Amino acid sequence: MILIDGKKIALELREELKRKIVELKSKYNAIPGLTVILVGEDPPSKIYVKNKEKFAKEVGINSEVIRYPANLEEKVLLDKIKELNNNEKVSGILVQLPLPKHIDKRKVIETIDYKKDVDGFHPTNVGNLSSGYDSSIPCTPLGCSLLLKKVEKNLSGKHAVVIGRSNLNGKPMTQMLLKENCTVTITHSKTEDLKTECLRADIIIAAVGIPELVKGDWVKKGAVVIDVGINKTEKGVVGDVAFEEVSKVAGALTPVPGGVGPMTIACLLKNTVDCFKKLRK
Ligand code: NAD
Repeated sequence: MILIDGKKIALELREELKRKIVELKSKYNAIPGLTVILVGEDPPSKIYVKNKEKFAKEVGINSEVIRYPANLEEKVLLDKIKELNNNEKVSGILVQLPLPKHIDKRKVIETIDYKKDVDGFHPTNVGNLSSGYDSSIPCTPLGCSLLLKKVEKNLSGKHAVVIGRSNLNGKPMTQMLLKENCTVTITHSKTEDLKTECLRADIIIAAVGIPELVKGDWVKKGAVVIDVGINKTEKGVVGDVAFEEVSKVAGALTPVPGGVGPMTIACLLKNTVDCFKKLRK
């Protein structure tokens, strides 16, 4: 069984981005800029934002974090986004979710210039991805696809089963797999026999949020299993896949932690660099 080392692959991606940014600097006399907006005091969000800032700086991205109190007026946030849209030093804008309830998430996402939408949540990017056009792709599924490519060079004709249909993970993942010519089954909380669906899969992407949902006898011998889940349990952080059992049958598997997680931030940095390049085209 191949253990897909997300930590190592994310580090390689960050090293590659570091080199790219040096080249971009000499070509354009400018570097990519990422602005992250954090509203409120949600503890996990504060940690994510801190890590995003740290890794962005490390690869040479000009990183800025704007922090607002939880009672921020929606208009102030929208005006700030419009200002950042017009700031040519900013190549990527990310508004950390979740937002306080009084702020309309949809309005916020739609106000971000889709060319600076490093999260890939803007409807233009979602539409472009589903039409098979060039687009910003949400960071976690982008990370999953890069991990998948490390062990399966040619995905054409493979049967992929995606568990979960969120806008953040399941849906964009499905679109990416279709683009790679996989036959895709998308499953969700109302799927009747998830085990049978999984047993048909050459590739399983589990993005559910239920600890160790995918068992060893759900997985075909040799299948590639990508575990997106991050679940806090009494025994520590576990994924959506029962790692010990599944590692005995899978051909390749991502661990949790150390699999998809590190790829998410690395892909945010990749999206920032890609937006910088596209804005200059
Ligand atoms: P979500 O709650 O938005 O979506 C969960 C999906 O799972 C839904 O589509 C739902 O229909 C489906 N589902 C629920 N119960 C099911 C069941 N019994 N069988 C089949 N499907 C079922 O969650 P999300 O935001 O997509 O996140 C999923 C998991 O991925 C969570 O554990 C989250 O913490 C993790 N996550 C990890 C990263 C990372 O960087 N590794 C990033 C984002 C989310």
